[in-house]
Amino acid sequence: PRANELKTKAAAQLKSVKDKEHPLPPPNNVTEPPSADRKEGAVYQVGKLLGKGGFAICYDGKLAGTSKRYALKIVKSQMATKMEQKFQTELQIHSKMRQQNIVHFHRAFTFENCTYLVLELCPNGSLMDMVKRRKGLTEPEVRFYAIQISGAIKYMHAKGIIHRDLKMGNIFLDKYMNAKIGDFGLAALLLTGKDMQIMRRTTLCGTPNYIAPEILEKGKKGHDHMVDIWSLGIILYAMLTSKPPFQSSTTDEIYRRARDRDYEWPSPETSQKYISPEAKDLVATMLQDADNRPEPDVIVSHPFFTSGYLPVATDITSKLRDTAPQ
Ligand code: ADP
Repeated sequence: PRANELKTKAAAQLKSVKDKEHPLPPPNNVTEPPSADRKEGAVYQVGKLLGKGGFAICYDGKLAGTSKRYALKIVKSQMATKMEQKFQTELQIHSKMRQQNIVHFHRAFTFENCTYLVLELCPNGSLMDMVKRRKGLTEPEVRFYAIQISGAIKYMHAKGIIHRDLKMGNIFLDKYMNAKIGDFGLAALLLTGKDMQIMRRTTLCGTPNYIAPEILEKGKKGHDHMVDIWSLGIILYAMLTSKPPFQSSTTDEIYRRARDRDYEWPSPETSQKYISPEAKDLVATMLQDADNRPEPDVIVSHPFFTSGYLPVATDITSKLRDTAPQ
């Protein structure tokens, strides 16, 4: 009981810290100051609250004088320095991403001590909301989203970015129910190609005692980016069954089960849900050790994608949008 009390207290403290970090709701009209590419500045009419994250709040915003709507992601400008730094990294990485399954970053500005990110609006919530509501998706729907997310991962990795925090709650749904990866809060630059060569050259001038062998192996790519493929495996399992595979009451137990690959598929007798052997095999390949996990191109050529129906966007839009809250 004492431990529980302490836990509750810690949770309350954490919550109050988080509340302090969150900005207050914005005024009805937010003014973007003039800038080089928008000399008159702009006004956004603030609409409904879309959601709160770790330290950001997000509102629907209409660009005054137009019918264009965006998601305004708002963060206090004077945050603790570490948070500020993390946010700067997020901003820099996200603003360079341009791909159809990544939330488009339009611009950023400051107004009344807050930083505003003007993002592509995803009005249909997150993949997590939908999977919970629907208690798992059908295999054709999973094919549709797996291909979209694999495409976005391929793009990020080709640009030298590892996302590191891919999860259903960070994948938002646009008005056509397409998946869009958002929140680059934990993303990192991966050293590849030329950067890697430069690093090799410079590190090799120093003492060799501390250099990991993969740095020395010319032409061999590291496997750091494979953390995103693991996450995609978890996302696939969760889309199919509505629960992540290693779900447990404690974090230590989740880690233990992940390390041991201790997961099961729901039995067809109790769940009445058929999950194909192809789907199970694909998930298993993604949950292997990093150097055996498939690259996005290998993923989309897996038999899972040809073993059944692959919907086109319009099938998904009309069917799923009807079940989404507005
Ligand atoms: P944080 O970086 O603080 O975790 P998030 O990026 O997760 O913040 O955003 C917080 C919430 O705002 C999300 O859970 C979601 O509900 C909403 N949100 C974020 N980006 C968008 C977007 N592009 N379109 C619609 N809603 C969004």
